[in-house]
Amino acid sequence: MGRAAIGVKPQPRCGPLRMEARGGGPSLGRVGSKVLIAGGGVAALEAALALRELGGDRLELELCSPRAEFVYRPFAFGARLGATPAFRSDLRVVAERIGARFRLDGIAAVEPQDGVAIARSGARIPYDYLLVAVGAQPVSAVPGAVTFWGATDEGRLDGLVRRMRTGMLRELVFTMPEGAGWGPALYELALFGARVLARSGIEDARLIVATPEPAPLSSFGSAAGRRIELKLGESGIAVRHAVRPLAFEGGRLRTEPGEPIEAAAAIGLPRLEPCRIDGLTAAAGGFLSVGEDGRVAGTERVFAAGDVTDFPVKRAAIAAQQADLAAAGLTAAAGYRVEAPPPPAPRWPEPEQGLPGNRLGPFLAGRVAVMMTR
Ligand SMILES: Cc1cc2nc3c(=O)[nH]c(=O)nc-3n(C[C@H](O)[C@H](O)[C@H](O)COP(=O)(O)OP(=O)(O)OC[C@H]3O[C@@H](n4cnc5c(N)ncnc54)[C@H](O)[C@@H]3O)c2cc1C
Repeated sequence: MGRAAIGVKPQPRCGPLRMEARGGGPSLGRVGSKVLIAGGGVAALEAALALRELGGDRLELELCSPRAEFVYRPFAFGARLGATPAFRSDLRVVAERIGARFRLDGIAAVEPQDGVAIARSGARIPYDYLLVAVGAQPVSAVPGAVTFWGATDEGRLDGLVRRMRTGMLRELVFTMPEGAGWGPALYELALFGARVLARSGIEDARLIVATPEPAPLSSFGSAAGRRIELKLGESGIAVRHAVRPLAFEGGRLRTEPGEPIEAAAAIGLPRLEPCRIDGLTAAAGGFLSVGEDGRVAGTERVFAAGDVTDFPVKRAAIAAQQADLAAAGLTAAAGYRVEAPPPPAPRWPEPEQGLPGNRLGPFLAGRVAVMMTR
């Protein structure tokens, strides 16, 4: 199917994704629309690159994040288990290369009617369009289990890995809370665990994945499910599906439903809670609902992408696809003709192994040498 043109009268053959400039924003084609991007993660940077490409110099971009560092978390597994280090880069440098201003601050609230964002510092930041990409906060979800925090992990997980390497830890259960949207991370973590044991020559370990999913990677389709089941089987990892973890205590992971799972230790993925911004109406659970063009429900000039939205799968690749969609929707709303990318679709394994996004991946890959800060 051909791609829909945004900003021009859409043709019926263009399929369900039809975007048109609508009222509420600046007049069509106005030069110099100010776009405020809240966030400094995958979604924010992919959106900034897409906006620069689609809107050219006609869009004035400002990136606002409370941290000056971009951390690409998907590399966190490798970092924790002795492979690739987490990818970090200085947001000020990235913003400059994209041609965006950088503001070290968080957005606390929005007054959508007036087109003003209020920063944590108290600064009032006017915008023509706002793109919210503030992500979600991981919070511990399984009492008694060691939580995998990713790039910011400290101590406890390293300790587990050390014990695995020396053969002191041979029975491990990996689990995640319901609705975490993190399916692949759970299996990838278990597979990394199996690799650590194999490399250490330990053959009699018992690894189990306990997941609330009805089947492994159920939201990624049956082909992905079969692939991951095959990989898990090859690595000797057992799976207990359709169980919610309650707590790990006394060497047993209690689940609902089902018998407790015996193990020497449990590793749990955190639950993700949205970073809330006052003034924006959230859907159930606090995440933002967005339309087909990435616009936040009930707003005219606010768009959102990434983990902060209520899309059920939380992945860097999905965040980047949503960012491309929101950037296209926003550019169209500003009155410029752009092509609409397809709606986000979860895929596993993802095609761009390692680096995320249509634009961000190549952008980072081309600049790794200057941007790696550790
Ligand atoms: C441990 C771990 C491992 C993961 N592994 C994978 C993986 O292997 N593959 C994969 O695809 N995905 C993985 N993910 C998920 C992936 O990291 C997220 O889906 C992705 O980072 C979402 O991007 P985002 O830009 O929406 O949010 P984030 O990357 O969380 O970025 C949010 C940004 O917003 C900023 N911010 C927060 N609050 C505010 C505010 N009030 N105002 C302005 N800025 C704000 C933050 O400082 C940050 O810069 C993993 C996640 C974790 C935690």
